[in-house]
Amino acid sequence: MCAEPIGDEHPHVVNLESRALMCTCRGCYLLFTAEDATLRYRAVPDRYLSFPGFRLGAGEWDELQIPVGLAFLFSNSVQERTVAFYPGPAGATESELPLDAWQRIVASNPDLGVLRPDVEALLLRSPDRDQPSFSAHLVPVDACYELVGRLRSLWRGFDGGQEAHAAIEEFFAHVRDRSRPVPGGGGAG
Ligand SMILES: [Zn+2]
Ligand SMILES: [Zn+2]
Repeated sequence: MCAEPIGDEHPHVVNLESRALMCTCRGCYLLFTAEDATLRYRAVPDRYLSFPGFRLGAGEWDELQIPVGLAFLFSNSVQERTVAFYPGPAGATESELPLDAWQRIVASNPDLGVLRPDVEALLLRSPDRDQPSFSAHLVPVDACYELVGRLRSLWRGFDGGQEAHAAIEEFFAHVRDRSRPVPGGGGAG
């Protein structure tokens, strides 16, 4: 973004139009942290949260039309829609969520209101497809893209294979490590 050299650990901003992530120095990053600013770029926060009270019915998951037990959901403020993306044999697949399905989920999980559009994603995972029991985390979108990129190169066969699963486990260990419960969370359960 500027001529400032950046190290391996550096923040990112999202280009709201192209959805591209850009590496930045700390100084440029801070220019784009204002949440309500009308800017072309938005800084990706580095917080991780867990939603211990998150509830999703089996039927609701099916309604989202996500074929694998792992998905990132985030809203796109420019297009005013919520999209899900998930890894699969063809790389990352992005699909638009049926709006009413998403709104029902937010209505029954008001904690999700803390998610910032464009820069934070809701990471959902159900290890067992037949008996959905979800873990829900807020993660920065750059971490999502990084995982998807890694999985793209590791994915084998229909379900990903051993290496992809190991990468997913490693990612979740990291997410659990960094997450703290959503403030005032706990949900209805
Ligand atoms: Zn970067
Ligand atoms: Zn800079």
